[in-house]
Amino acid sequence: MGGKAKPTKHTAKEINKKIAEASTNKGGGKAGLKDRQGGAAGHAKFKCPACGIQSPSIKSAEEHWDSKHSKLPFVAADWSDTHAENGGVTTAGVAVKGTARPKTQHELTKSKTGQELLKQKEAEKAKALETL
Ligand SMILES: [Zn+2]
Repeated sequence: MGGKAKPTKHTAKEINKKIAEASTNKGGGKAGLKDRQGGAAGHAKFKCPACGIQSPSIKSAEEHWDSKHSKLPFVAADWSDTHAENGGVTTAGVAVKGTARPKTQHELTKSKTGQELLKQKEAEKAKALETL
């Protein structure tokens, strides 16, 4: 089986990918629901001060205002920025890959910024020991 020169074996990369796919939380179910909806803030950034409808951008917010509340002047500052109110982060949980888990020591050694971070951590540790 397997044709001419086509290897039937899987590469380590393929296998690792399959393992990762099977063991990574992709944000399904109840736990991921909030994330999929955009976290506490939702995906829409702006909230209409008059009727509470949500808008993804201040431009569409203005369009909404013009069509629904044109009797009043449009004040961009009145539109609450729901993302800022929720700490600027909307999706940061299980459904977002790579944010919930801190990098392992091994992963850190692979990148320059990671190595610097490790050095910093070591220095902090040394300092903490000194003050003891
Ligand atoms: Zn409105």
